[in-house]
Amino acid sequence: ILLIEDDLRIRESIARSLAANGYAVESRHEGMAGVQAAVAGEFDLVILDLGLPDIDGREVIKMIRAVSQVPVIVATARDEQEEIVRLLDLGADDYIVKPYSASHLEARIRAVLRRTGAEASTILTVGGLVIDQDAHEARLDGELLDLAAKEFDMLAYLAAHPGKMVSKREILAQVWRLPYGGADKTVDVHLSWLRRKLGETAAEPRYIHTRRGVGVKLVDPEA
Ligand code: CA
Repeated sequence: ILLIEDDLRIRESIARSLAANGYAVESRHEGMAGVQAAVAGEFDLVILDLGLPDIDGREVIKMIRAVSQVPVIVATARDEQEEIVRLLDLGADDYIVKPYSASHLEARIRAVLRRTGAEASTILTVGGLVIDQDAHEARLDGELLDLAAKEFDMLAYLAAHPGKMVSKREILAQVWRLPYGGADKTVDVHLSWLRRKLGETAAEPRYIHTRRGVGVKLVDPEA
């Protein structure tokens, strides 16, 4: 869990109680450092304080959401309905109103992880595609696919968010670990290789559907 919170007292007490309950916790006390840590992709969940010294928490959510689907729980002192609706619209998964207790926060964490599937199995299934992340193997209708590492990673990432349009920028951040750059062309080339291996074409897509200027999604063609 990544905790982005500038108040030392809150940061230490929350980190301590989460750690005592078996969570691995890292913390950052500024927004930019928090964004960098969040988009590096090693956290299952982010707890974000809205009032940070360098950038507004809303901007932090936007920057994280531009490249990552990591679940975010916002800790807010502003409990106005309007503000909470806006935060959820920006991509926050849940919120908690300050001051909050550690046990209340943990209940929210468990609920969000359950909902977002972060605790789900490492086997992903979309239609006839079965992706075993532990074994690093993907099968289509039972046939083992011969995928290069990045093709596998991209397929697994798309399969973890079936039916959802994912931007190339997000793929560059999550698969190539390039949150701040990289060429869309890289994704295009790998997508075309992946397509060929799945036995489909851009003109007649089955699993992989792209939309120009928006991104790509993986769907069950029978659904
Ligand atoms: Ca604060």
